Amino acid sequence: MKRILLLGGVTEALAIARTLGPEHIYSLAGVGRVPTDLTCEVRVGGYGGAEGLAQFIRDEGIDLLLDATHPYAAQISHNATTAAQLSGIACWALRRPAWQPQTGDDWRDISDWAELIEALKPFHRPLFTLGREPLQHLHEIPPEQFWTLRALDVYPGNERCEVIGARGPFLIEDERELFERRQIDVLISKNSGSTATEPKLEVARERGVPVIVLQRPMLPGVDRELLTLQETLDALATFVQ
Ligand code: NAP
Repeated sequence: MKRILLLGGVTEALAIARTLGPEHIYSLAGVGRVPTDLTCEVRVGGYGGAEGLAQFIRDEGIDLLLDATHPYAAQISHNATTAAQLSGIACWALRRPAWQPQTGDDWRDISDWAELIEALKPFHRPLFTLGREPLQHLHEIPPEQFWTLRALDVYPGNERCEVIGARGPFLIEDERELFERRQIDVLISKNSGSTATEPKLEVARERGVPVIVLQRPMLPGVDRELLTLQETLDALATFVQ
């Protein structure tokens, strides 16, 4: 019997976890919702770095580590490859292809917060879809700007920022309404490659709104890179035979 340790964090990871039997483990950091209706074991919380993860792999007799974490969760991906090497098992990763700009898009790449602030200068009503990081900068909002910040949960904003708590998938009609209601003149996004959050890009294109894109972090090489959910399910089915 082969055992898989699945590192989750994205929609596809949960879909994979739903197909796994009780001998396999689905691992979550504990920042989002924890499913309670899975057949496989669910483990919540970190391992204390790559060494801790390697120890867990050895203790549990894991045969394959599958990294299905978010493309911007670089730390756990680096830990995964190191831990797999330390424990002598293979590490596979499900890596969604990045979104590509299409005709009519005005995308501007940035790599950190300082570049983002510079890129934002010509705009007045940005929509942030970067998660919680902008919350640390609410006191820095220039007087000519009003921010809309969307995160998984609602957090306090201030007189220059409204925080919206919402979880995808997002419908294009709702995104259109949001851009119109908030009069968004620039969108700030990671390049997650997820279909669940892609409609905002379509609305930005329709409205001629520029998109400031936080570049993806460098991720480590793995033994096998999988691009889609189906490809991953097929590979796993062969692996456990
Ligand atoms: P990160 O910086 O790469 O990881 C931080 C630490 O969280 C890791 O070192 C590890 O702790 C723990 N961790 C992360 N994923 C884990 C998992 N699947 N199982 C057990 N421990 C895990 O990650 P992050 O950017 O904070 O994201 C945290 C989680 O949220 C990830 O699982 C990611 O897939 C998900 N997520 C992230 C984003 C994003 O934009 N970053 C978006 C959506 C979902 P130890 O070192 O103690 O093992």
